[in-house]
Order: sequence, then C-alpha cells, then structure tokens
Amino acid sequence: MQLTTDNLNSLDWQKMNDLIPCMVQDASSGRLLMQGYMNQDALAATLQSQQVTFFSRSKQRLWRKGEESGNTLQLVELVADCDNDAILALAHPQGPTCHLGTESCWVPQQQPMISELSELQRTIEQRKQQADGSQSYTAQLLESGIRRCAQKVGEEGVEVALAAVAQDDDALLNESADLMYHLMVVLSARDLSIDDVCKVLQQRKG
Ligand code: AMP
Ligand code: ZN
Ligand code: ZN
Ligand code: ZN
Repeated sequence: MQLTTDNLNSLDWQKMNDLIPCMVQDASSGRLLMQGYMNQDALAATLQSQQVTFFSRSKQRLWRKGEESGNTLQLVELVADCDNDAILALAHPQGPTCHLGTESCWVPQQQPMISELSELQRTIEQRKQQADGSQSYTAQLLESGIRRCAQKVGEEGVEVALAAVAQDDDALLNESADLMYHLMVVLSARDLSIDDVCKVLQQRKG
C-alpha cells in the first residue's frame, strides 16, 4: 500500500510501539541503501518535505537524513508491507548514504545486474558534465553530436547480430556490452535514460 498523509493510521503503530522500521532503496538502481526507524512525525515530515526523515533512537528526535552531511534522500515513494509493520522508501540519494562514505550501509559481494547498468549510467552522466573530450571517450562521443552517437548504436547493433548468427558467444557478449553502452550514450545525448525506457516497458505490460 502506498503511504500518503491520509492513510498513516493504517500502519500498525500499536504493535510496533510507535516505531516502524523503514528500508531505503535507491529508486534507480534498486540497491538497498540503509535502514532506520520512523514514528508518525517522521513519516509525516518525510511526506511533507519529500526528504526521508527518521526518528533517531540515539538522538531521540527527528533526523532528516543528510541534515549535516548534505547526503539527503529525495523521496520517490513510501510503501507499507503486507501486514503494515514495515516501510519501504524508494528514493534518489544525493551522495553516499552511509556515514562511512559508501553508497550503501551494506556491501555484499554480489550486486544485482541492474546495479551495473545504473553505475554505468552515472559514469556517463558524469562524463557528460565534464564535456572535456580530451579526457574521455564518452565525453568525446557526446561532444561529436547526436549523429555520431546514433551511428555507433547502428554499428554495434549490426555487430551483435553478426556475432549471434556466427554463434560466437564471446563476441556476442562483448558486442552486446558495446551496444548497451552506446545505447545509454545516445539516450543521454537526448537527456533520456534507461529509467525512461523502463517506464515504456512498464506501460506495455498494462
Ligand atoms: P547525516 O544525516 O548524513 O547528515 O549524518 C548525521 C549523522 O547521522 C552521522 O554523523 C551519523 O551519526 C548518522 N548517520 C548518517 N547516515 C547514517 C546511516 N546511513 N546509518 C546510520 N547512521 C547514519
Ligand atoms: Zn510485515
Ligand atoms: Zn551506514
Ligand atoms: Zn562492437
């Protein structure tokens, strides 16, 4: 259930002694970032400010994540779990979420596939900001304009097709990597991203 200012009471506050755990997930990469606790005030503040705000048990007060570090969590959506005793916050992190400087408070060996694409997307966006072609291939490509970016997608697409027909799995994987990278660059050149492509895929399921 999606939480709004109108249905906060449907959470099982009584069972949880007014403190409900909240997991924060990166809305783009799906990566789990941190966990904290929310009371009703923290939940209301989160919805009102659109920045994830917890009740700090050590400080015994509301704690807006990033209030000191600037590494805030921009709210996308708050959802309650099946029996209303746990909250999931989908958010866009502004900088590393863990106070130890890492992206997430958990550092597992295995990362889900989508994290890889999301990391690549971030790198492409960074190169685009630099826009100093002397340093990076990505910056060069973006600087050379949309036609060049589009042409690369066409070339790599053909290379993928040829590798598949040749049943050369090694080439197929490498050309697919080239294609995915260049696809993300051409999207970026139009200020679009894989996120926008996923929205289209989601609508098609409808
Ligand atoms: P911040 O909210 O990022 O400004 O950090 C303020 C303080 O909150 C830090 O000095 C830590 O004590 C604590 N803190 C920040 N981020 C986390 C986190 N992800 N998990 C636990 N404690 C945190
Ligand atoms: Zn539950
Ligand atoms: Zn942490
Ligand atoms: Zn290639």
